[in-house]
Amino acid sequence: MVAATVFGTQAYSQDLIARQAPIDRKLKSVDSLALQKQIRVEQSLYPAFDIYPSWNNETVAYKDAIIPESYTFDLTGFCMPTEHTKITDIFGYRPRRRRGHYGLDIKVYVGDTIRAAFDGKVRVVKNQGRRGYGKYLVIRHDNGLETVYGHLSKQLVKEDQLVRAGEAIALGGNTGRSTGSHLHFETRFLGIPLNPALMFDFEKQDIVADTYTFHKDKGNSQKGSSSKGLFYKVKRGDTLSKIARKQGTTVSQLCKLNHLTRRTVLRPGQVLRCS
Ligand SMILES: [Zn+2]
Repeated sequence: MVAATVFGTQAYSQDLIARQAPIDRKLKSVDSLALQKQIRVEQSLYPAFDIYPSWNNETVAYKDAIIPESYTFDLTGFCMPTEHTKITDIFGYRPRRRRGHYGLDIKVYVGDTIRAAFDGKVRVVKNQGRRGYGKYLVIRHDNGLETVYGHLSKQLVKEDQLVRAGEAIALGGNTGRSTGSHLHFETRFLGIPLNPALMFDFEKQDIVADTYTFHKDKGNSQKGSSSKGLFYKVKRGDTLSKIARKQGTTVSQLCKLNHLTRRTVLRPGQVLRCS
């Protein structure tokens, strides 16, 4: 009798569970629909809602950002901002000017199409005239990155406009403090400039890896994450062997990577790929 009761109870509870299951599933799907809706509402306010303190159409940097210890960006939805492959200046500190260069310079011509690097929402559309970036754009992306496009001849998008990766957002130019038309391209996280060369390989027109992880204490500052090892900017008096020694590579490797011969005369300011 006791055994029968136990058996009976088990049978009953199993039956109950069986009958409840579809309701559970329904509830779960309602939950995730509600969650999805909530996410959509938040995303429509601004992308990366969970990590950024605010949305504004004014400044590149943030005063009130809380910087996490680390953060991983999904780079897979990328599109190269330009089809051009020649890097004309690298990311890093410029001792001579005592200021940082917060992006990569890529050779483009006036009127060339510039494309959004990822899906996102246009945050800043401004013109600094002859100063700084000249005509520039800032886009906030769903993956948490912001990208900056400077020295444009024309902006094709408006503030708060949603854009898809690869969408034409501007035309290349030579506005602002610029000598010769080029695209000044920055990748930032909460206003902190990160070296784009660690994420984008313009020469190969591809991303370096599917993800990039930012580490707060690893020195993502302009000095800490300079493109040492990746690119080198030729200084007066440099020779291929001197650069090879400094960068821990060989002359033949430098020649191969940069399509040079051992006799090529280096020009100060020239950017060499080192790895
Ligand atoms: Zn630049």
